Order: sequence, then C-alpha cells, then structure tokens
Amino acid sequence: MKCKVCRGPALAGFPAHNANFCAEHLDQFFLRQVEKTIRRYQMLQPGDRVLVAVSGGKDSLTVVDVLDRLGYAVQGVHVDLGIADNGFSSESSAVCREFFTARGLHLEIYSLSERFGRNIKDVGWRFDRFCSTCGMTKRHVMNARAVERGVAALSTGHNLDDLSAALFANLMRWDRRYLAKGLPTLPPEGGFCRKIKPLALLSEREITAYALLRGIRVVRAVCPYSREAKFKRYKELLTAVEHQSPGTRRSFYEGYVKAAPVFQTGGQAAPPLGPCAVCQMPTTAPVCTFCKLWRSTSA
Ligand SMILES: [Zn+2]
Ligand SMILES: [Zn+2]
Repeated sequence: MKCKVCRGPALAGFPAHNANFCAEHLDQFFLRQVEKTIRRYQMLQPGDRVLVAVSGGKDSLTVVDVLDRLGYAVQGVHVDLGIADNGFSSESSAVCREFFTARGLHLEIYSLSERFGRNIKDVGWRFDRFCSTCGMTKRHVMNARAVERGVAALSTGHNLDDLSAALFANLMRWDRRYLAKGLPTLPPEGGFCRKIKPLALLSEREITAYALLRGIRVVRAVCPYSREAKFKRYKELLTAVEHQSPGTRRSFYEGYVKAAPVFQTGGQAAPPLGPCAVCQMPTTAPVCTFCKLWRSTSA
C-alpha cells in the first residue's frame, strides 16, 4: 500500500477518496478537506473568532485542533454535567482542560452543579428524559455563550457518519423540521449565532486516523446513561452500503445539501421566536426550557 502523493509506505487507506496516505500526506489531506468544507459552505472568514462546543471526544477536539491550525481564533466551552458514577464528567472535564492548556487556548468549563446545586441526573430523572434534557441543556449553554461572546460562529464536531445517519432516519420519516436543520451551516437567525459543522464531509474513520496521528487524547469513559447511539441502525446500514460502493455516504449528504431548499418551503411555519423572560435567549415560550428546568425555584 503506497501513499497516493509521495509513493512512500502508506499508513491507512481511504476508499471513499480512492487514496492511501502516509502520515504527512494524511495530515495535509485532512486539513485541506476541512478548509474546503469551510469555504464551500461559507462557515468562516479568515481569522474569525469561533466558539467550539467540546465534549472531550475525538470529534470536538479534532475541530479545535484543525481550526487552530488553520488560523482561526478558537475558544472552547465544555458543560460539566456532574455525572459521578464512573468518573465520566470529571474525566471529560480533565481531558478538555489538558487539551486547551497544552495549546494555550481559552476554555470555559460550565459546571451545572456549581451553578445550580444540582446535576443533570437530578433534573434529568425528575423529567424522565435523560438524554434529551442533556442535549437541551448543552445546546442552551453553547448558544448563550456564543451570543454573549459575539463570535462569528458556534462550531460542533458532527461528522459525516452522524449527519448522514440522521439524514437517513429523518428521510424515512419525512421529517421536514429536522431535514431543514441538518445543513453544515445554519445562518444566524432569530437571535442565535451562526452554527457550523466543519467535519461534515469527513468520516469517523478519517477523523480517528487524524486524531491518532496528532496524538489527541480523548475521554475513555462512556456516559453511563446514554442509550446506544441514536441512529445506530441507520449508521450500520450506511456502513454496509459504503463498503459496497465507497463514497456513497458523502454523495448522499452532499446531494441533500444541494436539495435542502426543497425542505425549507412548504412545511408548517415554525412558531415565532421571542426572548426568554429570564435569560433573553430566543424561545417559542415566555420562559425557555432551560430556565424552567434549571432556574425554577420550585425544584
Ligand atoms: Zn506521502
Ligand atoms: Zn431562558
């Protein structure tokens, strides 16, 4: 197996790109792919300030690493959920802190227990919807921070495998509301900051190879409450298809982005957004779900 660029011994093969790469050219390939994605989907301008939502997993830390290398002014925010059972939250926070310190970048660790005297378990179990409460909480904190800091965009680490599996699942249900939201770039609307997914065209396999190459240490503990990956079945189906004809996953997702305007019209009009009476972030209710959950005195 030889590197496509230098013909030296290759480290890994990437059938979707019909290419094998050595370490140096895998690194180059990866950076260029992210750069192209950013330009193509108008995510950022050179040197822009960007806030990255980090979990301690390979995707979000890879985003920070790459955006920093590409010359963007990166800062991070990590929500400490206070899950103590298997050291999940403390390990996640420690991994993020170590990563940002080593690069001299700013990271805020937003601890729910310190702020509200309760952790995600207290609140999540009370509401009997652990994962959705966690998702809502993280989204709220990230969105609010991005607006406060006035950054050009809020970035997440969603990769091609996640996005294509979610797309597949939502297409099976013809869920227009979600179909309009799976885009690599969501414009700043209704008081929210622009949202970007710079790894949208990179597969899990490619990201894993890059993270290994860069020596990125990721959190090992798994959230003890997460029900297996949400779109697991669809991921497996797409992996099988990808195996048969490499590149299908990417063309499936790219095709959707081109066709996306179709999903943005003709659906039910979204309810209007107004500021939350407590935190001022956009919401369809008088008080947003986050404030109801975390800031209610009755809890
Ligand atoms: Zn090479
Ligand atoms: Zn609120």
